[in-house]
Amino acid sequence: MKYGFVIDHRKCIGCHACTIACKSEHQVPVGSFRTWVKYIEEGSYPDTRRHFAVLRCNHCENAPCVTICPVRALFKRDNGIVDFDGDRCIGCKACMQACPYDALYINPNTNTAEKCNYCAHRVENLIEPACVIVCPVQAIISGDLDDPSSHISRLVATESTLVRKPEARTNPKLYYIEASDTALRPAEQSHAGGYIWSEIQMDAIARDAQALAASEAKARTTYDVSHDRPWGWKVSAYLWTKSISAGAFLLAAIAILFGYVRGQNWLFNSAAPQVALVFLGLTLFLLIADLKRPERFLRILLWPQWKSWLVVGGYILLAYGAIAGGWLLLQWFTTDADLDAAVVGVGGVVAAAAAVYSAFLFRQARGRVFWHSPIVAFHLFVQALLAGAAALMVVLAVDSALEGNLLFGSSYVFLQYELAGSLVAHLILMTGEVFMPEESAERKRAARLISHGIFAWRFWLGCVVIGGLIPLAMAIRGFEQMPAVAIPACVAALAGLLLWEHIWVQAGQAVPLS
Ligand code: SF4
Repeated sequence: MKYGFVIDHRKCIGCHACTIACKSEHQVPVGSFRTWVKYIEEGSYPDTRRHFAVLRCNHCENAPCVTICPVRALFKRDNGIVDFDGDRCIGCKACMQACPYDALYINPNTNTAEKCNYCAHRVENLIEPACVIVCPVQAIISGDLDDPSSHISRLVATESTLVRKPEARTNPKLYYIEASDTALRPAEQSHAGGYIWSEIQMDAIARDAQALAASEAKARTTYDVSHDRPWGWKVSAYLWTKSISAGAFLLAAIAILFGYVRGQNWLFNSAAPQVALVFLGLTLFLLIADLKRPERFLRILLWPQWKSWLVVGGYILLAYGAIAGGWLLLQWFTTDADLDAAVVGVGGVVAAAAAVYSAFLFRQARGRVFWHSPIVAFHLFVQALLAGAAALMVVLAVDSALEGNLLFGSSYVFLQYELAGSLVAHLILMTGEVFMPEESAERKRAARLISHGIFAWRFWLGCVVIGGLIPLAMAIRGFEQMPAVAIPACVAALAGLLLWEHIWVQAGQAVPLS
């Protein structure tokens, strides 16, 4: 059995009865929708045409919301309905990033994710979904797509149908008859300043995204719902603190294992694991604080859904914390160099995994194609080296300034080359993510927001010049005579990296999914 929908746009009159029936059936809060009717207009007066698009969950065969959910709150029923369980949801909002169709919202009363569940409680009692019953023109058809004699199967077999974003490879089970292709593709639409019944307030990022879209748009949106950007500053900050933590340990592992420093070294054997642990603690705090139901965070570890990179990442961070803490303790109780090297070697590998796993998590966010660049994992590794080198250089420079010493020695030279090399790689990869040729309209639009849109001055001035080129020039020249200059240069590099994380996370969410 495989339940699906057909929306017949030959019949739809755009009356919103389906929206209202759904809201009534499920007590959907004001401002949230499980199904809604979008209006777009094509052409210019007098040759204009208005199209409707009835939008909702597609009950995808290959549902990325189910794959990314770390706690099985989203699941697929045997009859093909993609359903949710609010009692399990931790409010991580990952499903909202994974769904390419904007189908999920956070219920402000329960702080858990919800969406169309095909009125599963009605279907169990052999009653059709509320939207099907209420539609005055029978434009919504539900039924079993596996039953060749059902009305829906016959329609799909005999009529020409469209699905939304087939390139997302989700195999939607919602088929449209005679819908406008443009109405189903948000990247081909613009918003020109107001809706048919109202002027709407858009924030600056949404306005800018729409302004950039206007030149290439095939149609104008005239009635729509709001489009959330579920991940905010806590997610950007989590990427940054994680980079500092992983980078500090990685650099200590490289310096010790490759013999850049000899014997016990205060910076790498003591300060580095302490920096790693402090910033790992901040990372875990930010991850938990970003949950809408933070009191449920242990479910990620206790009831894991192993296909989710949120779960895999959670366990990597725990393993990394245990090794970094264990290594610090080990040095207080033993001077066994072989054991030390073994722990540092294993820890270095786990630190590298902690640095790069987020690339796979963001890739599971199937709706946000800007995050899918093939260089993201490598870039996260470079960001960790950059952040670790800058943080340890600050520690070394502060120590030198307090002791009244010059900055010198093998630790300093190692960090100086590390900082300069990782800044060069970061600048190349960062501009590569923005300018790399890409076919997807959504990706192009997000990248243009960074290079020419609302993020442009922050990107060019903050990330490239202040956070990249200036610290690079200073690192190449060397900080030997002036530890006081090393501190602002490294702080600028860290601030530029934090700004990049924020721009990257926000630009990826700026293009509407529906
Ligand atoms: Fe529904 Fe979106 Fe999940 Fe597909 S990915 S089943 S449309 S919520």
